[in-house]
Amino acid sequence: MQKCNNCNLPFKWSVIYKSAMWLYKPIQCEKCGTDYKISFPSRYIVSFLTVLPILIFGLILSPFDNEFINILIGLCISFTGSFFIPYLVKYKNVNT
Ligand SMILES: [Zn+2]
Repeated sequence: MQKCNNCNLPFKWSVIYKSAMWLYKPIQCEKCGTDYKISFPSRYIVSFLTVLPILIFGLILSPFDNEFINILIGLCISFTGSFFIPYLVKYKNVNT
């Protein structure tokens, strides 16, 4: 998990998760108040983990005859994948 560059306080999982879900909302260090925004490549990681499973299962693979089940499985995978987002994404100081 990423730490604050300024004071080394680790960001909380829930803070990063919420930021990613709210369209990459900037986050602020709870201790020193430094502002962070998500790095550009990290936006791709978030999209890959959340959108791709739905596309692959719902549209490309479609392993089941029932379209609804395909999308539901894709949703389950992307929901599970989203739990890893806080470990994978990187944030950078807004001012640097
Ligand atoms: Zn800090």
